[in-house]
Amino acid sequence: MTDGIRAVTNWAGNITFSAREVASPGSLGALRELVAASRRVRVLGSGHSFNEIADTDGVLLSLAALPAEVDVDTAARTVRVSGGVRYAELARRVHAQGLALHNMASLPHISVAGSVATGTHGSGIANGSLASAVRAVELVAADGSTRTLRRGEDRFDGAVVSLGALGVVTALTLDLEPAYEMRQDVYTGLPLAELDFEAVASAAYSVSLFTDWRAPRFNQVWLKRRVDAAGPPAPPPAGLTWTPATEPQHPVPGMPAVNCTPQLGAVGPWHERLPHFRAEFMPSSGAELQSEYLLPRAHATEALHALDRIRGTLAPVLQICEVRTVAADRQWLSPAYGRDTVALHFTWVQDTAAVLPVVAALEDRLAPFEARPHWGKVFTVAPEVLHARYPRLADFAALAAALDPSGTFRNRFLDRILSGGS
Ligand SMILES: Cc1cc2nc3c(=O)[nH]c(=O)nc-3n(C[C@H](O)[C@H](O)[C@H](O)COP(=O)(O)OP(=O)(O)OC[C@H]3O[C@@H](n4cnc5c(N)ncnc54)[C@H](O)[C@@H]3O)c2cc1C
Repeated sequence: MTDGIRAVTNWAGNITFSAREVASPGSLGALRELVAASRRVRVLGSGHSFNEIADTDGVLLSLAALPAEVDVDTAARTVRVSGGVRYAELARRVHAQGLALHNMASLPHISVAGSVATGTHGSGIANGSLASAVRAVELVAADGSTRTLRRGEDRFDGAVVSLGALGVVTALTLDLEPAYEMRQDVYTGLPLAELDFEAVASAAYSVSLFTDWRAPRFNQVWLKRRVDAAGPPAPPPAGLTWTPATEPQHPVPGMPAVNCTPQLGAVGPWHERLPHFRAEFMPSSGAELQSEYLLPRAHATEALHALDRIRGTLAPVLQICEVRTVAADRQWLSPAYGRDTVALHFTWVQDTAAVLPVVAALEDRLAPFEARPHWGKVFTVAPEVLHARYPRLADFAALAAALDPSGTFRNRFLDRILSGGS
């Protein structure tokens, strides 16, 4: 079935897909037939990427009409989740079984398969990206055949952060842990000059620092702390001139906090504290662009001071900048591959012409830190530079060629980024 001839865009509306229609098969059999009969296919997840990563001139495939399976194995502490399911639904179902994910992104409205395909992450110095929880990937290949890759197998580390290049991900199996409770506290007005990055980033299970770069300070620091049976969480570092917020905050100055997850230390379940935004609301209308760069955490302070030196360039097109951490992992295309990471995120105004020169200036400023761009956001880094920063990109290109010899899942985005190898 197709959704009819109409322009299809991503969530932000800055990308109109060339396919102009979406096919939504209702069964795995129909999906396999459709893929086998198609010259070019890309899957559209929840459409929250800001570049042409999901685009195709062939069939744009939605998994929304397939059964949304969430099968929790409480004994093994795993969940098998089908390709179209979003984190909000997954988290609710997992929590109902007394189990939890290790982390979530800033909003729960994104699909699990689309998120792990781009290396999406939350925060926490000991927390790997969302892809690090994946134990198995089930794919439909270009000829319609099915294949499962499992953790520990040779090519598995190349197959999770897949950029959609290896096939249609019909299901993923993820690690779970016992459910836990958390509290979220926001502190305001931390001067950059006072920042001991390691101390602040380690002050909670998950920490986010927000700045609009209109001054050398962080407007807000969000501490998400686990409240374990062992006792109350450790207090945040003392001696800083930040102030505990007395009202709920939205990360973007001037926006109402009603869409945000509960703050002010109210204890609640993990999936209602880890994301910044509530599952039952959309956090914004999509009037934004985003970029993000991930670099070794050891360079965090130096990189933040480098950004401070260009804040006059950043601030006019910036809604908010968020600083998070991600633990190192082994997944070839993960932005945290092989290095404990600090992630520097930018929510821009939705004005591509005004934002692109600023993105280029930012990339120039972050180049000495070997910054890797987030695959799902706006970046202009040249393919040969991507190959230097993502050392397994050539291995990934070989894996994609082996699993998809007909190039069914290729698109312009992949042609470009995979082209830079020597
Ligand atoms: C408001 C907002 C907040 C965000 N917050 C965060 C954050 O906290 N942390 C972070 O790291 N990122 C964040 N992102 C970025 C977002 O997580 C990524 O863009 C992610 O890829 C979105 O998932 P999606 O399902 O919308 O993917 P899409 O944009 O739909 O697709 C992304 C890629 O995955 C592929 N894909 C999707 N589903 C499948 C499938 N079943 N099989 C094969 N390929 C597939 C697509 O073809 C495409 O290549 C945010 C984005 C927005 C808009």
